Amino acid sequence: MALLAENKLVREIPVCSSCGEKAVYTREYSGEKLCKSCFLSKFEKRVLKTITRYKMFRHDDQVAVAVSGGKDSLVLLHVLTKIERQFPETSLVAITIDEGIPGYRNEAVEHAETEARRMGVEINVLTFEELFGRRLDEMLGALSENGTKLQPCTICGILRRRAINVAAKRLNATVVATAHTLDDIVQTYFMNVLRGDLNREIGQRNDSTAIVPRVAPLRVTPEREAVFYAYLKKIPFQSYICPNASKSARNKIREFLDSYEADYPGSLYTALSAFESIVFQKDRPEKLCRQCGEFTSRDICRVCEILSSFQTNS
Ligand code: SF4
Ligand code: ZN
Repeated sequence: MALLAENKLVREIPVCSSCGEKAVYTREYSGEKLCKSCFLSKFEKRVLKTITRYKMFRHDDQVAVAVSGGKDSLVLLHVLTKIERQFPETSLVAITIDEGIPGYRNEAVEHAETEARRMGVEINVLTFEELFGRRLDEMLGALSENGTKLQPCTICGILRRRAINVAAKRLNATVVATAHTLDDIVQTYFMNVLRGDLNREIGQRNDSTAIVPRVAPLRVTPEREAVFYAYLKKIPFQSYICPNASKSARNKIREFLDSYEADYPGSLYTALSAFESIVFQKDRPEKLCRQCGEFTSRDICRVCEILSSFQTNS
């Protein structure tokens, strides 16, 4: 009887599916169990494979990594710094956009600067105030007085994309790497569907537009694994949540997808390939905004639309 109990105990200790060492992580979608060292190495190899599969980088790219100071972006910077050592003609630089969200972005910018310096990567911080003349909180205050229907994250997201592009151009970057994970990418596809706008690539390199091409090397990495990688590597990251986050439409989609993935592991991967099979086939005509000359799919880009609402109402 004692022997039976002992055997059961031995069988219950999870072991790494790759090397037989003690497992510390289970990939629910595949049933794979991984020890610390296999988890880290598979994580990094998957990023490299993603870069190759989606043809994200060229051998002589000047890569600008968009670093918010959150876990995903610091993990991305960490892994790309490691990968970059294998490609001596490539260079890496970090860009951080400070929207001006008091009590939130300050901590993130500090983490971004500290970690970038620790990894020996030059970091450039660009603020909304410098670029658009106002901080995000000032814009939100003014817009709410005007009774805008735009959500804070919609405004922030549109302006931040522009700011990243401006910062990348100033640094002569040939490509921008963002830290969107599998979860982010699938959430965005769902949001695009609900907005009736699936005709939009996310994170796939497109050199044919006026915008600096963007890639997302973590696009097939679940966010949960990025968190665990940060934990294992002891990468400090921002602990506060943006005060505007709970008001975002993305939050609702995220909650739904998180609980769906928990019940049906692997659903995010299924959704990603379904969306990619539709979106990656489309040809996108390039247009330039009639006001500012930046790339847009409309006549007047959304940045000019937001900024003009200040001019007409102030
Ligand atoms: Fe901007 Fe919304 Fe993100 Fe806050 S949660 S940083 S407002 S996009
Ligand atoms: Zn192992």
